[in-house]
Amino acid sequence: LKVRNMSKSAKGSIANPGTKVKAKSGLNRSILNEAWHKFFTYLEYKLKLKGGILIKVNPKHTSQTCIKCGHISKDNRKEQEIFKCIKCGYKANADHNAAHNILRRAGLARMACQANLIRGRQQEPA
Ligand SMILES: [Zn+2]
Repeated sequence: LKVRNMSKSAKGSIANPGTKVKAKSGLNRSILNEAWHKFFTYLEYKLKLKGGILIKVNPKHTSQTCIKCGHISKDNRKEQEIFKCIKCGYKANADHNAAHNILRRAGLARMACQANLIRGRQQEPA
């Protein structure tokens, strides 16, 4: 989750004013009132108790990247719910496609950590 992106203002500019500014302002207030650091600390604590691990991944382009061919484009996601790759034609539920990209990044981050442990170096998952 990118809290900064989630809580961006909807005001726009004088030349290009935004819409639903008051509603977005209220939503931003709710998002910013959450204690995100506390949430992640508690989540990590609970995961350790259950034998799991918390892996943070960079969410950039996870909703625009095709899981079949790796092509990245905003045009892959013209509709909110549907992902359709403009390069290979792969079509799926947009959330399902993004979840696969996140899972792949988490797996790669974990493999990088294990490889570094084998070599005797420590690295936090990115
Ligand atoms: Zn594709």
